[in-house]
Amino acid sequence: MTTPSTSVLIIYTGGTIGMTQNPETGALEPFDFNHLIDNVPELRRLGYSISTIQFDPIIDSSETEPTQWSKLVHIIADNYEKYYGFVVLHGTDTMAYTASAVSFMLENLGKPVIFTGSQLPIGMLRTDGKENLITAIEIAADRDEHGNPRVPEVCIFFENALMRGNRTSKISSQFFNAFTSPNYPLLAHVGININYDDVEIHTPDNNEPLKPHFNMDNNVVVLKLFPGINRHAVHQALTIPGLKGVVLETFGSGNAPRYDWFLEELRNATERGIVIVNVTQCSSGSVQMGLYRTGNTLRDIGIISGFDSTTEAALAKLMFLFGHHLTPEQVIEAMKRSFVGEVTIPRPSAVSQ
Ligand code: ASP
Repeated sequence: MTTPSTSVLIIYTGGTIGMTQNPETGALEPFDFNHLIDNVPELRRLGYSISTIQFDPIIDSSETEPTQWSKLVHIIADNYEKYYGFVVLHGTDTMAYTASAVSFMLENLGKPVIFTGSQLPIGMLRTDGKENLITAIEIAADRDEHGNPRVPEVCIFFENALMRGNRTSKISSQFFNAFTSPNYPLLAHVGININYDDVEIHTPDNNEPLKPHFNMDNNVVVLKLFPGINRHAVHQALTIPGLKGVVLETFGSGNAPRYDWFLEELRNATERGIVIVNVTQCSSGSVQMGLYRTGNTLRDIGIISGFDSTTEAALAKLMFLFGHHLTPEQVIEAMKRSFVGEVTIPRPSAVSQ
C-alpha cells in the first residue's frame, strides 16, 4: 500500500550495483551514487519519498570489516525515526556476512532493512540491479492491513526471493539468483506479485525501542576441515594470539576425524577457553553431533553445535557475543538460543544435537 508519508532511506555502501566500466582499462569502478538515481528514473515514479546516503569511501564488499557494520548500524539508528524502511545497497560478495551481523546489532528492530545489490552494474543494459532495487524499495515500504511494516527484519532481496538475512549464503558469482536460504523458507516469492509468507516473517512481540549495538570482536576464525588436513595447520589456526572463537566447518552432519592429534588440538583449545562451534560444510542441513561416533567425540571435548546456522551467521554471532565481553561459558550458553531467527534449535528431546 502506498501512502504519501512512506519514506525510505537507501544506504549505498558500494558493490557492483553502483559501478561503471572504465572505458580505458575495462575494469569496474565505483561511481557517484547520484549517477545511480539517474540510471533509475523509475524510482521517482514509485510515489515514495526516497532519500539516499552514500558511504564515504564506498567499498567493494570484499573489503568489508566490522567497522563498516557499525557505521551502517549508526546510520540506521540515527535515522530510525525519520524513515519507514531502509534499503542497503551492498556488494554481493559479503552481503550475507553483513546482513547476518547487522541482524544481531539491531536489537528490537521493528522496521524493514532490506539488503540488495546486483551481478551486473545498474548502468548496463541487461542489469539485474534495477529490478532488485525497485522491488527492495517496495518491500521496505510495504505495510500490512494494520499499517505496520510488512517485513520488520533484516533481509536480503535478490532476483525473486526475499530471505531472512542471517539465513543466507552467496551461491553464485555468475547467475542472477546469487543467494540461497538453505535452512529457512523464503519470506516472500516475487514474480508478478510479491507473495509474502507471513507465517515465516518475524514480527516483534514487544514495543521496545531499537537498541543498536556497535561492538564486534573479530578474534575469531573459520577452520574448514578437509581430508588430509595436517596438524600444523590445525595447530596454527587454534593458537592464533587472542583467539576467542572458532567456526569449525565439519563434514556432513557434524563429523570430523578422530585422530588423536586432532582431538588433542581441539581439546587444548577448548580448555584454553576458546569457543568452537560446529557447522556443516554441506550447503544445507543441520549438525547432529550425536548421530555418529565422530560427532559424539567432538561434543565430549566441549565443541558446541551450530545446528543449522550458516557459517556467516555463526561467525557474526560469535563476534557479537564476544563484542559484549561475555565469558566463554556465557557465549556457549548464548549460542544455544536463537536471537533473531538465525538458527533452528531442536526440541530438548532431540538430545543427539
Ligand atoms: N566485488 C563486488 C562486491 O561484492 C561484487 C558485487 O557487488 O557483486 O562488492
